[in-house]
Amino acid sequence: MYKQVILSKNKEESLLRKHPWVFSGAIDLIDEEILDGDIVTVFDSKEKFLGTGHFQNATIAVRILSFEETELDQKFFNHILSEAIELRKTLGLFSKENSICRIVHGEGDGLPGLIIDFYNGIAVIQCHSIGMYQMIELISQALQNSLGESLKAIYSKSSETLHNKEGIVDSYIWGTCKTPHKAKENGIRFSIDWVTGQKTGFFIDQRENRKLLSKYATGKKVLNTFCYSGGFSLFALKAGASEVHSLDSSKKAIELTENNIHLNKLTENHFSIVADAMEYMKTVDNSFDVIILDPPAFAKHRDKRHQAIQGYKRLNEMAIRSIKPGGIIFTFSCSQVVDKNLFTHTIIAAAINSGRKIRILEQLHQPADHPINAFHPEGEYLKGLVIQVS
Ligand code: SAH
Repeated sequence: MYKQVILSKNKEESLLRKHPWVFSGAIDLIDEEILDGDIVTVFDSKEKFLGTGHFQNATIAVRILSFEETELDQKFFNHILSEAIELRKTLGLFSKENSICRIVHGEGDGLPGLIIDFYNGIAVIQCHSIGMYQMIELISQALQNSLGESLKAIYSKSSETLHNKEGIVDSYIWGTCKTPHKAKENGIRFSIDWVTGQKTGFFIDQRENRKLLSKYATGKKVLNTFCYSGGFSLFALKAGASEVHSLDSSKKAIELTENNIHLNKLTENHFSIVADAMEYMKTVDNSFDVIILDPPAFAKHRDKRHQAIQGYKRLNEMAIRSIKPGGIIFTFSCSQVVDKNLFTHTIIAAAINSGRKIRILEQLHQPADHPINAFHPEGEYLKGLVIQVS
């Protein structure tokens, strides 16, 4: 028997629509001795069963893992993880040319609070809830069961996402692997370090957009701002760009980029810049044919949305002003609170301010291994546009 959470009257509606979050304000009664991370069963005010999930004393008080009366045991994780992995196999993401993918994308895979990224044999687990962290042994076993021989090690990296809570350490929980470790995205090799790198070591979510850039980059002079480990730069170089300039404010990121460029023997025509993107954009002449703008989330919370919009507008306006006539801009936002429409309007406003005409050529989003649970639209976070500036 799990501990119980009973909702106030008429607060069950979102759960009946299979939205997996219970906000603290919706709760009427909870077991007294409940602790962060406990598994709880949620009932409506008439004590009708609604779902089972993880409790945390926070705004999102319960994250539902099952809307059926099931136990969250080994069998549960075996089933849900094998389904998630099967999807990635169908998508062709476990192949000779591609050994990088996201195996579990939180709510999108029915596992709120859990991210698992895969880098050529290594699974990196990132928990966003204590409850999920407490299930890491079950998750680890389920990964071994589903991936078999293709799994070499499992690394747990949750100390940052769980705010350095006592007792949470980053370490291998099964097997071990020296970092950096090499893996491939669409035929290009990347050296990935989940121990010291940002997030789980690599921005997997831009895979399809990097591939798309290949189409636009041949013979072109490209500026890749916010480059991190150089993903966009590598695809542009591979496609035969005449020059690629990679920019990041982090020296470490530029080192990662340069390593990856060496690894693929694409050093010719590549230039590195350590600088603040906003400052650098002020100095850009009209010589770039293609500019990539992939900043970190400018707004992590709704109350920062207005400020974020101003930031996106300023950055994009500078790029639109300074690009060569006929040039192409790949522009992104990964702020969840800035939706597709708002982002598009922001880019249009930036174009109006710049006095130049733009056309939207492509509308971009997160890839299929970062699926959106249709009952949890908040899962949509990455959006982008390819625009042409006349
Ligand atoms: N496009 C990358 C991912 C970008 S992540 C890829 O395909 O992998 C965002 C990057 O922006 C980080 O590397 C961070 O160091 C960098 N960054 C953050 N603020 C910046 C700023 N003001 N100017 C330039 N780079 C910045």
